[in-house]
Amino acid sequence: MFILKINPQRCKACGLCMHFCPAGGLGHAAEFNAAGYHPAEQQDATKCTGCRQCVLMCPDVAIEIFRVVEEAATPAAKTEEAQTS
Ligand code: SF4
Ligand code: SF4
Repeated sequence: MFILKINPQRCKACGLCMHFCPAGGLGHAAEFNAAGYHPAEQQDATKCTGCRQCVLMCPDVAIEIFRVVEEAATPAAKTEEAQTS
């Protein structure tokens, strides 16, 4: 899974990231930023494929993307995973 970190104060709500997101996972936040815009927000992280189109398209370099690494559920499972890798 991929999580976006969008700096709301850098965002001018131009909508480029939303337009170019092939997954349709971005939208405008309900809140205003200091400049009076509704900044972009990731509205459904489960849709994100990590393609980075939004990051590349943002003219204000407001978007960072992070891949979430799942941890093993139990210590026993972690040990088993470590032994097999
Ligand atoms: S990384 Fe790709 S799929 Fe994910 S929000 Fe950005 S444009 Fe959409
Ligand atoms: S492309 Fe950048 S400035 Fe434009 S809405 Fe998206 S985050 Fe905001």
